[in-house]
Amino acid sequence: MAEMDYISTRGSAPTLDFRAATLAGLADDGGLYVPARWPRMTTDAIRALAGLDYVETAVRVMAPFVAGVLSEDELRGLCKAAYGRFGHDAVTPLVQLDHRHWLLELFHGPTLAFKDVALQLLGQLFETFLRGGETELTIVGATSGDTGSAAIEAVAGRDHIRIFMLHPEGRVSDVQRRQMTTVLAPNVHNIAIDGSFDDAQAMVKRLFGDAEARGQLTLSAVNSINWARLMAQVVYYFYAAVRLGAPERPVAFSVPTGNFGDVFAGYVAAQMGLPIARLVVATNVNDILHRALTSGDYSAGAVTPTATPSMDIQVSSNFERLLFDLSGRDGAAIAGMMAEFDRSRAMTIPADMRAGAQALFSSARIDADGMTLALRWAQERGGQIIDPHSAVGLAAARALEIDGDVPVVTLATAHPAKFRDAVERATGVRPALPPRLGNLFEREERYSKLPGDYDAVKAHILAEAARG
Ligand SMILES: *Cc1c(COP(=O)(O)O)cnc(C)c1O
Repeated sequence: MAEMDYISTRGSAPTLDFRAATLAGLADDGGLYVPARWPRMTTDAIRALAGLDYVETAVRVMAPFVAGVLSEDELRGLCKAAYGRFGHDAVTPLVQLDHRHWLLELFHGPTLAFKDVALQLLGQLFETFLRGGETELTIVGATSGDTGSAAIEAVAGRDHIRIFMLHPEGRVSDVQRRQMTTVLAPNVHNIAIDGSFDDAQAMVKRLFGDAEARGQLTLSAVNSINWARLMAQVVYYFYAAVRLGAPERPVAFSVPTGNFGDVFAGYVAAQMGLPIARLVVATNVNDILHRALTSGDYSAGAVTPTATPSMDIQVSSNFERLLFDLSGRDGAAIAGMMAEFDRSRAMTIPADMRAGAQALFSSARIDADGMTLALRWAQERGGQIIDPHSAVGLAAARALEIDGDVPVVTLATAHPAKFRDAVERATGVRPALPPRLGNLFEREERYSKLPGDYDAVKAHILAEAARG
């Protein structure tokens, strides 16, 4: 297989191979890395996925993206290690709700949200790429909940990597905090800061631009701008669609969306040749993507907190990857559009680009009532207790008119127990934590509490990193 090159959406960063693009995260022109071309899977190659298990499907789907850097056997080994930790043998099982609606359960990983599917593999990739070298990678991130625990589980105990995760003290749920702070591996550093998620995020951004910190640490990020995360998510679109009759029968997907990462992976699957009838972008009332796709209005306001916190975003970083393709891969044009957006926090998606998107994407904005009704519908009609994020996806799937012969798969992005207060309010049922989380509430916690002060946080990170 020919080596895959990675190019920046803003056209002026160096072209990298898969290894360098994975370690870099963001491109140094401010853009995001994408493969230089979309590899195609023939109809026969898709048909041949029938009956393969998740790991083998993953190897066939991801092989072209890692070509030149990892052999198929190396990739298989990493996938086995990453997905062996999942609590369900199918890794991402399908559950039928009614004659045409299905759920794709993506929450069987160690931290009960779909981010494990990508981050478990990313942890394996980092360790492989750093093995035998001199580099100590320092991952620094801020989390409002799901990303932090998934990233910590992915790198805990690994060589050549340490992680500092900031969370806003008292503003993540008990389950979410304990999933981070009870991981006692010496390379894991949790920091509760006195402030909001935005304060924590601003400190992380400042650290990445801080010459003194950059001089002492090799910094890396694990948010969904990292291409390898999206690549890992392409797999389950193939796995699910083939089980529902692809390539002979097209399938639609509804995706509860925040940063546009998960649904962009569906777009990649379509570019590779998977017959996807429709991709539904499901947003909560923080609806920048719904506005952008329907009227071209991509403007950021203030975030409204909802029962689906992982979708409470103002700006969807990965949308830039779609705009890049819709512009005919014109990096200079995207650099101009994004500079304008950074200045004014608003831009208009041109009509021709919008029309391009509408060929594949639909969207819906689901408010709190819509979410609650979908939770109840799943309970009463489908026999399933689902989480609020998945309910937003299901509500959108049911609201849109999709050709009646097409099965519609809603991505179930979190286990209901992770958001059990909201689930209980809507359904009267308080979902239990799965047994594999064990004694989460009895385990020892370890974290540092720091004031909402950049210099204190920076000093703490540099001192801890210097200790080893
Ligand atoms: C992160 C997250 C989302 C949003 O995914 P994006 O890739 O950012 O669009 C949806 N649901 C849950 C539970 C999440 O953790």
